[in-house]
Amino acid sequence: ARKAMVAGNWKMNGSLELVKQMSDAINNVKSNEIDIVLFPPFPLVSAMIASGVSTGTQTVSENTPGAFTGEVDAQLIKELGAQYVLVGHSERRSIYKESNDVVAAKFARAQQVGLTPILCVGESESEQENGKTEQIVAAQIDAVIEKLGVAALKDSVIAYEPVWAIGTGKTASPEQAQSVHKFIRDKIASLNSDLAQGLTILYGGSVNEKNSELLFAQTDIDGGLIGGASLKADSFTAICNSAK
Ligand code: 13P
Repeated sequence: ARKAMVAGNWKMNGSLELVKQMSDAINNVKSNEIDIVLFPPFPLVSAMIASGVSTGTQTVSENTPGAFTGEVDAQLIKELGAQYVLVGHSERRSIYKESNDVVAAKFARAQQVGLTPILCVGESESEQENGKTEQIVAAQIDAVIEKLGVAALKDSVIAYEPVWAIGTGKTASPEQAQSVHKFIRDKIASLNSDLAQGLTILYGGSVNEKNSELLFAQTDIDGGLIGGASLKADSFTAICNSAK
C-alpha cells in the first residue's frame, strides 16, 4: 500500500511566526502512517527545516549555478536539508509562463541532486469544459517521460490540481478527482506497472478539513496538496489526521 502524504503549499504567504505555530502543531500529529511536508517561501526554508518539519521549495532553477539573478539552485536547496521541490505548479505555468519543457528540465535538475520533484499537472476551466482534461494532463506528464524516460517517475510524486479548483472553493468531487487519478495511474502503468502502483498521486484544489476525508478515501488518491488551508494550524492538522 502507498503511504499517505499531505503537503502544504504556502505560496507567497507565511512568516517566521507561522513557521513556529505550524511546526508545533505538525510535530503533535506526525505519525509513521503519513508524510507531512510544507513548502514555505524560500526565506523561510531554513527555519522550517530547523523546526523538524519535512520541507520542500515551491520551485527551483532548471540551471546549474551561474549568472541567473534571482534564481535558486537545486544543490543549495538540497544542502540546506530540504527533500522536495514543486515543479510545474499552475501558477508558475500561467503567471511565469513555464512550458512543459521547462518544467521537465526543473524536474530533471531536482532529481540530479537527489531532491524529490512533485510534478503538478491539471487542466484549466475552459479545457475542462471542452473535455480536454485527459489530453492536457497526459501532455504534461509526457513532457517528463519523453525527456527522462518513465523510470524517472519512480522517485517523484504527481499532484493533480485542476486549475478551476485552485483557490476557488470549487473542489473536484471525489469521483471526478478519482477518475483523473486513475487515468494518470493507468497511463503510467501501460509503461511500467510496478512503478505506477507505487507512485504517490496527490489531489490539490480547495481541499479543506470538511472534504479531505472523502477525497483521500478514493483508491487512487494518496493524499493532498493544500494551499489556503495549509496556513491555518487547526485546518491543516485536521486534514493530516483525515489521511491516516
Ligand atoms: P488551494 O488549496 O488554496 O485551492 O490551493 C491549492 C494549491 O494550489 C496547492 O498547490
